[in-house]
Formats: sequence, structure tokens, C-alpha cells
Amino acid sequence: MKRITIAIDGYSSCGKSTMAKDLAREIGYVYIDSGAMYRAVTLYCLEQGLFHGDEVDTERLKDALPDLNVSFRLNPETGRPQTYLNGRLVENDIRTMAVSSKVSIVAALGFVREAMVRLQQQMGREKGIVMDGRDIGTTVFPDAELKIFVTASPEIRARRRFDELQAKGEPGSYEEILENVKERDRIDTTRTVSPLRKAGDAVELDNSHMTIPEQKEWLLAQFRKAAE
Ligand code: C5P
Repeated sequence: MKRITIAIDGYSSCGKSTMAKDLAREIGYVYIDSGAMYRAVTLYCLEQGLFHGDEVDTERLKDALPDLNVSFRLNPETGRPQTYLNGRLVENDIRTMAVSSKVSIVAALGFVREAMVRLQQQMGREKGIVMDGRDIGTTVFPDAELKIFVTASPEIRARRRFDELQAKGEPGSYEEILENVKERDRIDTTRTVSPLRKAGDAVELDNSHMTIPEQKEWLLAQFRKAAE
């Protein structure tokens, strides 16, 4: 079997990360959550007071970005990758509603995308990688051997996100989450730089009515076909 690059793109909260993580573990590939990188930069902006309402102080962020270090290390107990910002574990801090409600604004900034895409391409130099996001098959790895585009209805995605936050004891109402999901879809699909869209050669998966084991099976079959 060839070592390949796998790009998994799609809308917010459609279960891409779960699918991508499971697949990477199963086939022994590295998994990178590109959304976590945009979330880490957003957390930095919030903590440093770089937001004025929905506007980011781009001059200060441009100055700070070259020294921002976003990395992933495996949690020794779970074997899952966790996000670090300048050496600090931020895996939980980047998943709050405060970050979710601002991340698409930061991710629409061209200079932020350029820096993140460069890092992501470095991480994928050796292939054997599963990366999920919005522009992986279109911009980061246009030559990926396997590209998947995942969709599900906004209501189903909001329900999944709501259940996830509830389980962690995080605040957030279903209505608020649904609004956030729709707003992120709007910003992600209409931004000028690398808008979310299906790559011409991506395989589409609507997982609205699929269980996690069904998705896993489907994805493994796609992998076997692409890597043979
Ligand atoms: O995947 P996740 O929902 O954690 O991503 C958070 C946000 O980061 C998305 O809503 C999107 O605005 C942005 N993003 C992006 N490009 C990627 C990954 C995420 O613009 N490759």
C-alpha cells in the first residue's frame, strides 16, 4: 500500500475530526486538526485583547504571529493529539463558545491563513497524514490522493455540538449553537481567501443519518481504494 495524503474538509461540527482521528489511528497515520490552529490564534487574540467587537487589531496580530507557536503533542494517556500554544496546553480553552464565536473572523484574515497553510504543508511533507479543515483539499494539499467533503444539516450539526458541550459541562444553548454553526458556515463559504468549497476531485459524504461506525467503515473503504 502507498503512503498517501488524506484531506477531509467540510462544514463546522459535521464530525470530520472524529472520522479523521479514528482513521488516522486505525491506519497509523499522523492526524492534524487544522481548525485547532485557527482556534489557538483566536485564543491568543482574545487573551491579548486584540478584539474590538468583531474587529481584530491586525497590525498587532501581524507583529505577534511570527512568534506564535502552535503545535501538537500526543496525550500519553489517551494517545490523542492535544493543541499547545507557545508551549501551554490549550486543548480545552480553544473549544469554548468564546473562541467558536470569533474563530471564523480570524480565519478569514489572509496573512493568518498564509502562515497556517505554510505550517500545515510542512507537517504533511512526508505524507502518511490525515488533515481535516475547510481548505485542505483545495489549498493546503491540492494533490492529496484522497479528498473527502463532509456535509450534514445545520440542525443535526448543532445538536451534536450541543451534546458535546453538555457532556463537558460547558455552557451554551441549542439555539445559540445553531446560530453559531450557521454564522460560521456563512463566513467560511463567503470569505475571499480560500472559501470553504468542495474540491472538484473530492468524494462527498452526507453523514446526517449515519452512525459513527458506519462512517468509519465507509472512510476505511475509501482509504483502501486510494492507497492500493
Ligand atoms: O474545525 P473547527 O470547527 O474547529 O474550525 C474552527 C474554524 O476555523 C472554522 O469555523 C473555520 O472558520 C476555520 N478553519 C478554516 N480553515 C481550516 C480549518 C478551520 O478556515 N482549514
